[in-house]
Amino acid sequence: MYAYVYKNILYPFYETVLRRRRTFHYLNQFEKDQWLSEEELKEIQWKKLKPLLEHAYQHVPYYREQFENCGFHPEQMQDLSDISKIPILTKKNIQDNQQSLLADNYKDKPLLENWTGGSTGEPTRFKFDHRTYEMRMAYSARCDRWSGWDYGIKEFYIWGVRDTGDAPTVTAKKTLHNLLLRRKVVNCYTFSRDTFPRYVKEFNRFKPDMIISYTSPLYNLARYIHENKLDIYTPKSIIATAEQLYPFQRELIEEVFQAPVFNRYGSREVMNIAMECDKHEGLHLNIDNLLVEIIKDNQPVEPGELGEIVITDLNNYVMPFIRCKLGDLAVPSIKKCSCRRGLPLLQEVAGRTFDTLTLRDGRCITGLLFTFYMQKFTGVSQFQVIQKDLDTFIVNIVKNSRYKDSDTEDIGAELRQQLGANAKIDLHFVDNIPMQKSGKQRIVISEVPLDFGNE
Ligand SMILES: [Zn+2]
Repeated sequence: MYAYVYKNILYPFYETVLRRRRTFHYLNQFEKDQWLSEEELKEIQWKKLKPLLEHAYQHVPYYREQFENCGFHPEQMQDLSDISKIPILTKKNIQDNQQSLLADNYKDKPLLENWTGGSTGEPTRFKFDHRTYEMRMAYSARCDRWSGWDYGIKEFYIWGVRDTGDAPTVTAKKTLHNLLLRRKVVNCYTFSRDTFPRYVKEFNRFKPDMIISYTSPLYNLARYIHENKLDIYTPKSIIATAEQLYPFQRELIEEVFQAPVFNRYGSREVMNIAMECDKHEGLHLNIDNLLVEIIKDNQPVEPGELGEIVITDLNNYVMPFIRCKLGDLAVPSIKKCSCRRGLPLLQEVAGRTFDTLTLRDGRCITGLLFTFYMQKFTGVSQFQVIQKDLDTFIVNIVKNSRYKDSDTEDIGAELRQQLGANAKIDLHFVDNIPMQKSGKQRIVISEVPLDFGNE
């Protein structure tokens, strides 16, 4: 009953009337568009791409210079493939050109800001407007609905929550917000053999319709439940995100929770990029809002081949991301999904792997959290953490010109605060972080086996 009232009355009233957002308007449109053919969706892409590039040329100093340097003129574009003439935008380019990437005709408008630690540890700030935000919320909601999610259902979130030292009023507001959204958030920062029993109890008491979780903490929780033969409430479905989902992880999570797992791939920069529908034949790409290229040597790879993911956000005119390299890898699929949606499929997303670290105090934390820890060190372009034993960590760092001498001590202090006062942090400066033979990037590696033991 609450779900019905929330979905049909409360939330639309809040979004549309109170906040004056057009999220529902966009969602209705995108829900219809997903059933268009791939060719028709590409037509939508084209209609959005050309004005975006013209705008970038006229109003964004960074792109004007780039386009002029490489002899690219938006008005001369013949088709989508011409975009390959534009140079790739790296996270470093974004860091170094914060002002010149802003459109001169948007500077005085109300803007939103977000930032990301990124999978390679390069912190990046970016701006967008309310319209772009509403569209992102809408196409993300469209994808989540494929899993059975909807406004008003009970969500159990397993997420990395940073202690931001909020004032009590802010904490109270967040708690009320979660209560109204019927959302329970548990912090995978605090996962350990000691806290798992409490989370299992909370889960069973809360009886969620859905789990939305980082992949490896969810897998660890599933392992704990499985190895200790605990009873667990069955949700309707599960969204696993933020890390690569391996088949063995999916298998165990589905077995333990008796619910289907939906793989979701997204990024802070543009939110939901691709997600599985209930056919699980690959991840549908949101091509009506994003131009997603999978490339190798600046050329699109063949279906079945691994390439780098490069994104153009077709909606954001404030700080356009044109051919932005996210640092992840994917394999495009040749298959058409049997659900008949025209959104094309990725066969697999690869590239980001973060082992779970077992710490001396019993915590087992996902290595993904290091992207938060390292975020404030702008002199670090890339990093890799290798755990040798319970107390010893090797941190490989690729530094840039903003690296300060004091950073070495500060990084050590930050990591000791997170990993334990006795942690031995061994910092090494390297020229690059090598990829694995598979093309995958292992950001956090642990040589300490995970052991959940029996209660
Ligand atoms: Zn499908």
